[in-house]
Amino acid sequence: MNCPYCNYQDSKVIDSRDVNEGIRRRRQCLSCGSRFTTYERLQPTSFFVIKKDGRREEFNRMKMLTGIRKACEKRPLPTGTVDQLADDIEAKLYRLSKAEISSAVIGDMVMEGLKSLDYIAYIRFASVYREFTDITALKQEVDTLIGSQMEIFHSTSQLSLLPDDELETVTRRRQRNRK
Ligand SMILES: [Zn+2]
Repeated sequence: MNCPYCNYQDSKVIDSRDVNEGIRRRRQCLSCGSRFTTYERLQPTSFFVIKKDGRREEFNRMKMLTGIRKACEKRPLPTGTVDQLADDIEAKLYRLSKAEISSAVIGDMVMEGLKSLDYIAYIRFASVYREFTDITALKQEVDTLIGSQMEIFHSTSQLSLLPDDELETVTRRRQRNRK
């Protein structure tokens, strides 16, 4: 919490008391000495998730996180990436301020997030979530991904779906075909 007067990032709490559904803190800036007040509140009430079969259950962050973790298992992602993604999605969901949110909306957000992190994790999640019933649908998804990876091949930090040499070969073949 930065000082509203000088923007200094450190302050000390000089008084703290419970108010309605939160805590009110009187603070003093350690740089300019100005006093200001902050409020700490609980997260807004949770929302319900409407499942595919129409049943509703309270949103469970842990459940979502477990799904994402499973998809990212053994993938070379930096520590904290998965939790960060779950945090971002959770914040986005709360910002919708709805009493009920369809599980499809949440699933799509997770897929979108995983797609920008790691294609393997994305495919893993998609294959469970979209319930690819036949290999053709799965292959289509993979082909689409490989196609888009070719387009952004040189400018992306995305982890490779194909081993590098294989990727080179496919890219070269495509370039040759274009000529
Ligand atoms: Zn200050």
